[in-house]
Amino acid sequence: MKNRPAKETNTRSERAFEGVAAGAGIALGIVYRHDSHAVVQVRERRIPAAKVRAEQHRVLEAAAEAASRIEALQGRAKRMAGAAGEEVGYLLDAYQQMLNGSRLVRGVQKRIATDRINAEAAVMKEIGLMAEAFAAMDDQYLSARIADIREVGRRLVESLGGKDTETGFDDLPVNAVIVADELSPADTALLDPKRVAGITTVLGGVESHTAIVARSLGLPAVVAPPELLSAAENGDEIIIDGTAGRVIVNPGAANLNKYKKRRAAFLRSQQSLKKLKSVPAVTRDGFRVHLHANIELPNEIPGVLAAGAEGIGLFRSEFMFMNREQLPTEEEQFEELAQVVKKMGGRPVTVRTLDVGADKLGDALGLKPGPNPALGLRAIRFSLSRRKLLLTQLSAILRASALGPVRILLPMVCTVDEIKQVRGILARVVATLKRKGIKIADPLPPLGIMIEIPGAALAADALAQEADFFALGTNDLTQYTLAIDRTDEQVAYLYNPLHPAVLRLIQFTAEAASAARIPVSVCGEMASDERMTPVLLGFGITELSMNPASLPRVKKRILELNLASISGQVRRMTAESDPVRLKAFVDTLGDDG
Ligand code: PEP
Ligand code: MG
Repeated sequence: MKNRPAKETNTRSERAFEGVAAGAGIALGIVYRHDSHAVVQVRERRIPAAKVRAEQHRVLEAAAEAASRIEALQGRAKRMAGAAGEEVGYLLDAYQQMLNGSRLVRGVQKRIATDRINAEAAVMKEIGLMAEAFAAMDDQYLSARIADIREVGRRLVESLGGKDTETGFDDLPVNAVIVADELSPADTALLDPKRVAGITTVLGGVESHTAIVARSLGLPAVVAPPELLSAAENGDEIIIDGTAGRVIVNPGAANLNKYKKRRAAFLRSQQSLKKLKSVPAVTRDGFRVHLHANIELPNEIPGVLAAGAEGIGLFRSEFMFMNREQLPTEEEQFEELAQVVKKMGGRPVTVRTLDVGADKLGDALGLKPGPNPALGLRAIRFSLSRRKLLLTQLSAILRASALGPVRILLPMVCTVDEIKQVRGILARVVATLKRKGIKIADPLPPLGIMIEIPGAALAADALAQEADFFALGTNDLTQYTLAIDRTDEQVAYLYNPLHPAVLRLIQFTAEAASAARIPVSVCGEMASDERMTPVLLGFGITELSMNPASLPRVKKRILELNLASISGQVRRMTAESDPVRLKAFVDTLGDDG
């Protein structure tokens, strides 16, 4: 969309919108509207059999042209600062993969032949199917990739029509707040971050690409309701409160003053948090806590190190299996893991084996969804049903363990037998590698399990006899304990990690780990919420793993706490069974320490 000129006077009244906080901080700026997802309209045409070949050829040419345009953007991304450049670069690489002889291009060619339709319509059909498959995955990160798939489709269709697809940001005012439906990685590569004060989009969630990039650029961001698009005009003054998830268009004097002060306070606190990077996380009474990072992609490591994380507490390995028709080889997996272990420079890396459900990544793994995927063949159950896949993954992890400290983590373990089975497979892999003279860590990497099924938490004492460490997955633990699908917004109001049932399961697990003298960490979202820090420490948790951006805030909270006084308070808290009183209790916990 072309920008209208800025208005000369601002006579419209203040309007506030509540959205989802997607990048902390406050921005006071000028609206710059951007329409990145104008719907691509294509007409479906039947083609005669004799034209199929020519139509298929057009697709190849269009893919090559779209790829060369993206290559130009990759050059720009390289010049972007730090983690943002890497994030955008990674996504542009993913676009390239989708365009270069991938399943998408082959799928479109096949569809032209089977449906006898024109290339443009075939692209839109394939993109629609891929987007549907992604939308069905119960994984926020993956479903947020739908925008990327559509973007590739849009570029392909426009290359077919020979149209120029780049939307410029040449008229971006200083202090611009981008108001958009969604920002694609290509858009982001074109932005000059020095001119942008904040971002608000109506599509995507906290896991969307916009949110990831906003966080790595340190820009305040809110995922706002769609009405914002009709309320904000170019040149309007706008406030983005990315911490509370609020957007105010045409703010009055009172709010302008209030938010100027809030922004100054936020910037001061950011400065003081930066100073904590190399300060150890120790409570006032000398209790040492280890703060680790969760990652999904190797390119997140610069952010992990910048946040001062002591290691990786959860490396979700699913990315290696995404967007592909064939399973990754042992060599490919080893290369990825080796890169991460080396970059972490001697800090521990906890690699979780494949955590898929029957409903996600079905294509690459050739799976049929069961009647209830959430309770079906998923995570470690799936890996144990496909021994070769598990064997290959374990072999790659063991080889990476020769390069630095590695821990192996198994998702959704429910019985002692599952751990014993994995130990058996691990022994076979070790024997094979040793026979071939391939170096692995000695002693072998510890083998730990996620505690994220209520039954596993209640059997934690038995599981602790077999596992070398526990990692509490409070996201799934909450979902399964309360029978609330964590991705279903209709029941989102019931999703409450502070429910007494969830807290008791965490407490029981922590006690079982302590009795068996094995380490226990929390790597669910609860670990990144500093209000929960005293509760988790009070339960005896010694390691927290979270998204790197939250780490300094959690560390600050730890430095303020006095564990001796919290432990007594937490014991009293667990006797409380009313969720409302429990929340009030947690809010004041540690205050008098
Ligand atoms: C969890 O369930 O808390 C967890 C950390 O794993 P994931 O979010 O990957 O399911
Ligand atoms: Mg989980």
